[in-house]
Amino acid sequence: MTFHSSDYLKRFGLSKTAIREDVLMLLFESDEALSPKELEEKMDGPIDRVTLYRTLKLFDEKKMIHKIILEDQTTKYVLVNPEKGTQHPHFHCLICDKVVCLPNSPLPSCQLPVGFSVQSQSTIIEGTCQRCNK
Ligand SMILES: [Zn+2]
Ligand SMILES: [Zn+2]
Repeated sequence: MTFHSSDYLKRFGLSKTAIREDVLMLLFESDEALSPKELEEKMDGPIDRVTLYRTLKLFDEKKMIHKIILEDQTTKYVLVNPEKGTQHPHFHCLICDKVVCLPNSPLPSCQLPVGFSVQSQSTIIEGTCQRCNK
């Protein structure tokens, strides 16, 4: 599968900029969620952190990426895969800090008190990944 970041931006009504294309490309190529710091490290050359944060915020608002907030308040992002959606738990490896989607597991459903409504729900499972368990 090839990925054209400029087509992708166009589909969401966004003009293309180097940083937007880089962020999309890095998220597409990664099989794990990336934090702004990890994205920054993977980009070549110095980048403007404010622009990076603004780009991530914009992508999040457009629902192009989904945001995973870990216990220590680190935020990681994954590109939304229409087949996987965003309604699933995530696994966080406590040794290598990797975060992956668990698209085949349903989120636990809770019985809400009368008059309550859900805005968002997230489940993070912490443990050790296959590589770290070896
Ligand atoms: Zn690990
Ligand atoms: Zn996910």
